[in-house]
Amino acid sequence: MHRRKFLKNSSLGSAGLLGAATLAGCGGKTGPEAGAAPMLAASPGPVALCTWDFGNATEKAWSVLNAGGSALDAVEAGVKVEEANADNQTVGLGGRPDRDGHVTLDACIMDPAGNCGSVMGLEGFLHPVSVARKVMEETPHVILIGEGAAAFALEAGFEKQELLTEASRREWEEWKKTSDYQPVINIENHDTIGMLCMDEAGDLSGACTTSGLAYKMRGRVGDSPVIGAGLYVDNEVGGATATGLGEEVIRTVGSFLIVELMRQGMSPQEACEEGVRRIMAKNQGRTDFQIGFIALNKQGQTGAFCIHPGFSYRLYNGEGHRNIPSETFLKS
Ligand code: ASP
Repeated sequence: MHRRKFLKNSSLGSAGLLGAATLAGCGGKTGPEAGAAPMLAASPGPVALCTWDFGNATEKAWSVLNAGGSALDAVEAGVKVEEANADNQTVGLGGRPDRDGHVTLDACIMDPAGNCGSVMGLEGFLHPVSVARKVMEETPHVILIGEGAAAFALEAGFEKQELLTEASRREWEEWKKTSDYQPVINIENHDTIGMLCMDEAGDLSGACTTSGLAYKMRGRVGDSPVIGAGLYVDNEVGGATATGLGEEVIRTVGSFLIVELMRQGMSPQEACEEGVRRIMAKNQGRTDFQIGFIALNKQGQTGAFCIHPGFSYRLYNGEGHRNIPSETFLKS
């Protein structure tokens, strides 16, 4: 049987169990404190949220969800908005290049059945998230990298194009004059988009896409396309995604950690805070990098936490569309 069909069938089976066991409506308690009698209620979806203040991206995701589309289609359509936005210099078109001047893109996607696809170091394609989805749906693999990923994208019908814009090229030329070839690690230049969506049926998906750390060493891969680090979704529990210094997110497998903490009963907010605390415990006294996490649980509750002030997330749900400033570990 085709892999997708097989997984779809098995996910239908577990979704039935899930409905009976855990759907408790928005604001319902989870974990050890949850009441003994599970109650059946409508899904708290749709919900769409993403890292940073990307209103157009959440608007797009919401329009897919609102029309009855799946969470998977919504996250893909949502993050594509930023991949095509030349003004966002840390995602897709116009992304800052590596130190040798190549725009190399990392992206991943996860569906409610736990399928995932990822591309790393992809060059010359506008929508790495869509290539990652094809890896998920049309290959027996999870990750394709570099030249292999590009050959696959071409074969799959994606068009090759130049992604280094004049503005990003000029900045890179300037950087070369003074940089000693050190990547830029700072607390501002992290506009990676990670998105989590819940559809009307209550199913969850996520996507994360980035051009990575500005002026990184050629071949460097951050957290964003690493399943469990930059993104993790478990349709029984919730999802989490990250932005910021990928090396530190990878070291704690941040998004997986947050989902597992939610499974143990933490709210999305508590879980994001613990995720950041784990990272800071390994980096005592260090304040030169930023990391932000966002999370969504099966009850439609959301949370966010970051190291420095300045991080926010965009949320679109039944209560409207807004930008929510994140709580922070370090106070300004
Ligand atoms: N997380 C990304 C990376 O480390 C960077 C970012 O969020 O801007 O590649």
